[in-house]
Amino acid sequence: MKFFSEGFTSRSYFNICKQIVCGSYKEQVEKYNFSFNFSDENEMNAWTSLLDNGSDYLVVNVGTLIELFSLTKTTFGQKDCFESIGIAKNENNSGVKGFFDEKNCNLYFTGTPKDSVRERASTCAALFAFRFIGTHELGHILNGHTSYLKKMYMNSKIGMRNEKITRCDAYCLDRRTLEMDADAAAATASIDNVIMLYHNEFDEFLSTLFKKKEEIFGLWSFAICSVFMLFESLMTTTYNKNGYYLPNKARFYMAMGSAYETAKEYVNYDIVPELKENKAMIVKEVFYGIEQAEKIFLKKGFAFSWIKDFFEESELYIEYSDEVLCNWDNNLENKLEKYARTPLYNKDKMGAVFEQLKRIHDSGRL
Ligand SMILES: [Zn+2]
Repeated sequence: MKFFSEGFTSRSYFNICKQIVCGSYKEQVEKYNFSFNFSDENEMNAWTSLLDNGSDYLVVNVGTLIELFSLTKTTFGQKDCFESIGIAKNENNSGVKGFFDEKNCNLYFTGTPKDSVRERASTCAALFAFRFIGTHELGHILNGHTSYLKKMYMNSKIGMRNEKITRCDAYCLDRRTLEMDADAAAATASIDNVIMLYHNEFDEFLSTLFKKKEEIFGLWSFAICSVFMLFESLMTTTYNKNGYYLPNKARFYMAMGSAYETAKEYVNYDIVPELKENKAMIVKEVFYGIEQAEKIFLKKGFAFSWIKDFFEESELYIEYSDEVLCNWDNNLENKLEKYARTPLYNKDKMGAVFEQLKRIHDSGRL
């Protein structure tokens, strides 16, 4: 395994992704003590740990970028996906693969959407997905998970997926709960980002991509759904009491729930008034984005029907989420309190966070 954090150009996907993670870390901590690296591994995964010298450590496998960008390039290279963005009918429906050129420290792709607007939309979607993965890992760091695991179990390494199970039931339940917490952190960071783009930067950037600005929420839900569908396409997950992760589908629903709670706070505190005014259109776009993810995975040979399943199997998912939320409330929240560097997720505290956001907004700095 080889690690690197430079050697690529400033315009490369590597650098943009690095800036997203390092910038987000910097925004949230007082003292910058962070080492970010890519590893040359092809598996789609990312992991984090607390080093013995007290430094936070985060690694993203090259395979993560390859999977994300080749999926979004493939999607926007289809005539029948996101038809309202750019000119879809000229696309040639080909599947795009990506490769890591180690010598030049660059990624190469076998194709890209023909239409330049669609090409940019595909990059934007891949970056939404990447931000989710990056801030999930940062959630493990900033919410105190790595410090807690190091103290309790003498091993702070925590991966996004696919770790070999070596420990007892209580540890497994703790790990599923920490994953839920990191997903919630990622969902919050990612919907924050999209809401701010929707609110602030439409004229400069988004208007060149979308006919109506609410479409950004479709691109976002597509991206988040794609992260979990990619995981599921690489390895099927089922519920297991001795597992570190809930099924990908359950994690996706819970992440969407966290994002929804965050968006609701923006509405409650009247921070972004147009969210409320255009709620129906936004919700429609969110479902549209998930449908586009289902469509592209069906073309890849995976018949995921996560919208339909949500309504049919919701009782099951409530059971899974109750188990981890209960463990959070009764056990982990207190234990993590002393290690956390950001306010831990708590409905009562969310109010305070948003009071502050509103003050910042009112003073014109947001
Ligand atoms: Zn994780």
